[in-house]
Amino acid sequence: MSTPTKITVATAWLDGCSGCHMSFLDLDERLIELAQKVDIVYSPLVDTKELPDRVDVGILEGSISSEDDLEKARLFRAHCHLLISLGDCAVTGNVPAMRNHFKLADVMDRAYRENVTLQLQIPTRGVPALLTPVKPVHGEVKVDVFVPGCPPSADAIWYVLNELIEGRTPDPSSVTRFGA
Ligand code: SF4
Repeated sequence: MSTPTKITVATAWLDGCSGCHMSFLDLDERLIELAQKVDIVYSPLVDTKELPDRVDVGILEGSISSEDDLEKARLFRAHCHLLISLGDCAVTGNVPAMRNHFKLADVMDRAYRENVTLQLQIPTRGVPALLTPVKPVHGEVKVDVFVPGCPPSADAIWYVLNELIEGRTPDPSSVTRFGA
């Protein structure tokens, strides 16, 4: 019996809380089954540090809030045949986009001056520059599949990946909803 070809998957989180990746891990024992069908070639969940030239499926959690986020989203778009926005932050901007209602300088003041008692300073070195406004992933790069939810359930992630493994285009609207 021939071994079915695995699909390659890469994941990254941009401006997100990692909750969408935690939901991925909530697949629990199904991860073992998934490992027979999927090679995770780049992700915070594995050690690989470089995105391969060609990846079948890219999954992005989080919004585009900084220059690093933008660079990563463009890199994924360039290297991934199919790109998935995973979770409300990626799909709508969600929590990170709440700062769009305020001036960036006021947000920084609030975080690094008004709410601290020691070492009042706005970090400028070793941190990526923030962008304004915060955008969902499709605000900067083309997205093929949207999987809303905060976070999307493990069942929804399972459905989407299995549809892709079977060569079908998933319709996550039947298994997802916005919010928790
Ligand atoms: S969608 Fe929700 S769980 Fe996912 S990164 Fe955003 S806040 Fe976290």
